[in-house]
Amino acid sequence: MNVLVTGGAGYIGSVTVELLAKSGHKAVVIDNLSEGHKNAVPERHTLITADIADGEKLDAVFTANKIDAVMHFAAHCYVGESVKNPAKYYDNNVIAGLKLLNGCVRHKVEKFIFSSSCATYGIPEKIPITEEEKQIPVNPYGETKLAFEKALKRYSAAYGIKYSILRYFNAAGAAEKLGEDHRPETHLIPLILGCAMGKREKVEIFGTDYSTPDGTCIRDYIHVSDIARAHILAMESDFSDCYNLGNGSGYSVKEVIKAAEKVTGKKIKTAATGRREGDPPILIGDSKKISEKLAWKPAFASIEKIISSAWKWHRKNPEGYKE
Ligand code: UDP
Repeated sequence: MNVLVTGGAGYIGSVTVELLAKSGHKAVVIDNLSEGHKNAVPERHTLITADIADGEKLDAVFTANKIDAVMHFAAHCYVGESVKNPAKYYDNNVIAGLKLLNGCVRHKVEKFIFSSSCATYGIPEKIPITEEEKQIPVNPYGETKLAFEKALKRYSAAYGIKYSILRYFNAAGAAEKLGEDHRPETHLIPLILGCAMGKREKVEIFGTDYSTPDGTCIRDYIHVSDIARAHILAMESDFSDCYNLGNGSGYSVKEVIKAAEKVTGKKIKTAATGRREGDPPILIGDSKKISEKLAWKPAFASIEKIISSAWKWHRKNPEGYKE
């Protein structure tokens, strides 16, 4: 299939682009490079540096490349920032997203794969979280992802475009040549590895008074290559549905730090600070549905394996992608 990958120069998008090519599909990347990296898209793939809100540009891209499916990764994704600057999140994740979706309808795109998030569940009633859980987000990031999910379902019913909604838990790890390089970095695992490499002095622990066994937040970490594979399976299916994407086991912030110390052999200095606004205490995903319906199974089920892949990439690329 000819697949338009928005945000294909970003962390999860770039790993998916590589896998699309390996799976016999053609990826066309559109990325405004506000957060993505040109060097994360090897030259054999088409990279169009443009914004998905640019309707005219989109029309030209759809027409020139005969796009069959769209994978939509381009979005802002920081919970904390979304609380401080919701306008930025609604503007990009909802308004620009809808412009893309309108383009898909104009050009009769068959399938739309959407990067959604466990943040749409808010504070869940049951752990592990199934797709049946109520979606009541507790931060603007989750709200924008949910707003787009709802629009996508309505568009599908009205205009016939098929969809797969993938609600990721915490993406982590690296592929051989592609890894996590956010500027500024806010994600736990790369921050810890930055400390292990001596680039940072310490890791702040956001909250030690949660109702969890060690008082720190628990998350379900899932390898970026496992997420990428789920996108291909979802695109190749011919029905619409939404799926959780997690490993089904949770690790507290302190447990992740301990696992990273084991993998790297370095002691990580920490400092307990206050809670980060918008953080639910525990998020663990039940991914039975995608295993049963699309035969997806994570290859990286252990936190050590996930951290170890990231550690390899960070050591090879201590400054991240060269610009
Ligand atoms: N976290 C932390 N210190 C940091 C960054 C993150 O304690 O410097 C915590 C954060 O509160 C959350 C978990 O680590 O409970 C994972 O956060 P991250 O930002 O990596 O992903 P998110 O859960 O926001 O998608």
